[in-house]
Amino acid sequence: MIEKVVAANWKMYKNPEESTAFLKKFLELLPPANQKQVFIFPQTVCLQAVEDCLAEQNVDILTGAQNCYTEDEGAFTGEISPKVLKDMKTDAILIGHSERRSHFKEDNELLSKKIKSAQAHNLIPMYCIGETLDQRKGGKTFDVLKEQLEVGLKHFDRKGSLIVAYEPVWAIGTGEVATPEQAQEAHAFVRKTLQKITGLDTYKILYGGSVKPENAQELISKPDIDGFLVGGASLKPDSLAQICQIALTKRR
Ligand code: PEP
Repeated sequence: MIEKVVAANWKMYKNPEESTAFLKKFLELLPPANQKQVFIFPQTVCLQAVEDCLAEQNVDILTGAQNCYTEDEGAFTGEISPKVLKDMKTDAILIGHSERRSHFKEDNELLSKKIKSAQAHNLIPMYCIGETLDQRKGGKTFDVLKEQLEVGLKHFDRKGSLIVAYEPVWAIGTGEVATPEQAQEAHAFVRKTLQKITGLDTYKILYGGSVKPENAQELISKPDIDGFLVGGASLKPDSLAQICQIALTKRR
């Protein structure tokens, strides 16, 4: 049975003190056995505070940045070096979140280079894909997912790690969640496509889009949903802990 994962995307919320206060409360609620199945993605300016807090508490929760650049260093004012993220003991990088694709015009070509640069430093790329509402209504969902995977993973080294997050754009931050059947159908397609591209079927595929404690159980019961990427509901320690409890508790 594949071990489930829950990842918290804090977007541009929480300062260093708020991040630390969150973690202290959350850690009281998370069973130590589940620590290695949880990722926290704070703003990059809060990553050090998060790393320091976890080290101080001797906790194995994984951390990640919400973005990185394609190069390690250079005259790229304002960008984030994957090499320095690794130096900071970061574990993962979110790549291709729909807010990066839409607000910052990041396309699959650019994202393929970001995945390559993350892998070059042994950082886990958490590659986000998903269709817009227009694309879904136009019957284009599978074409869009296929292209995002084929182009985004064109430099992918199958010896490295990868997590894919299927996040239908119409479900992110909208309160509108994909039905478990819609999510399962997309996840099964993503798994099959990943297998064709990489030859492997071992990658975790997370669902993201308005996940809350109230809808987590139905979604996680689907065979191809290996966990969640959570935005809004990850901002409160008790709701993230409830989602972890639902998703990470082992069942027979
Ligand atoms: C996200 O930001 O990746 C996300 C899924 O947000 P939300 O859970 O708020 O829809």
